[in-house]
Amino acid sequence: MANDGLPPLRDVIAEHDLSAQKKFGQNFLFDLNLTGRIARAAAPLDNATVIEIGPGPGGLTRALLFNGAQNLTVIERDPRCQPVLTQISNHYPGCLHVIDGDALDVDVTTLGPAPRKIVANLPYNVGTLLLIGWLENIDAFASLTLMFQKEVAERVVAKPKTKAYGRLSVLCQYLCDCDILFDVHRSAFTPPPKVTSAVVQLIPKAERGENINIGSLAKVTQAAFGQRRKMLRASLKSLNIDVLALLEQAEIAETARAEELSVTDFVRLTRIYDTL
Ligand code: SAM
Repeated sequence: MANDGLPPLRDVIAEHDLSAQKKFGQNFLFDLNLTGRIARAAAPLDNATVIEIGPGPGGLTRALLFNGAQNLTVIERDPRCQPVLTQISNHYPGCLHVIDGDALDVDVTTLGPAPRKIVANLPYNVGTLLLIGWLENIDAFASLTLMFQKEVAERVVAKPKTKAYGRLSVLCQYLCDCDILFDVHRSAFTPPPKVTSAVVQLIPKAERGENINIGSLAKVTQAAFGQRRKMLRASLKSLNIDVLALLEQAEIAETARAEELSVTDFVRLTRIYDTL
């Protein structure tokens, strides 16, 4: 990224005493090549409502603005970051809107018209929870470009019969095309987290084949993977329905285990579950 005319991030941190705090899940990115790469992965940005969760001192925020975002809303819980974000906002008049608050409390679909794109280096402690919330309204978004711990990114894209395959994989892959774009070594962050990270991109599918109730899919996958070592005839008992009838109608062996079922199998199971 060429110079955006704002002070270097390390100077910003020192001047505003923004030492990273664990309680906010803070691991900051200073590498401008990396923040630029994440921003460009979500391109084009100029025609979109862009939403960033947890801008912190603004590394990724600046990359998004530098790469053309003209309607960017950021939500940051740490009040210490507000002066820095105001400084960035003044540098890009009318382009950056700052919400001082908890992203878990904000309905991000109200922040501007479609196409809406979420781009974030997520706080690891609430990252999965935020993603599950966005999935409930996935058609409101054009793309989600998100940095997670690599282990979470792998769960998003995991295929059946692997250890990482689970509820998150089924929900994400039913609703979206999901890709890991690239890994990010822990040394890219200040302070470095314990594990490698990865940027994952989710693009909502225009066509899902079969439309089912997402709440029901969430329930069925929760029951199935909640006891993933058990056979489905046992693990699905918590659904309080005739499990054997459900499995028979769905043409799934009662001795199968959750991780053996494809996303399509779960979709069929959910459609029939909703008729019982
Ligand atoms: N975007 C910055 C970067 O890439 O350097 C910071 C990323 S850091 C991993 C996560 C950021 O999310 C922190 O700034 C933290 O204060 C903020 N945060 C944590 N929990 C939050 C929440 N519930 N709502 C909004 N922001 C939150």
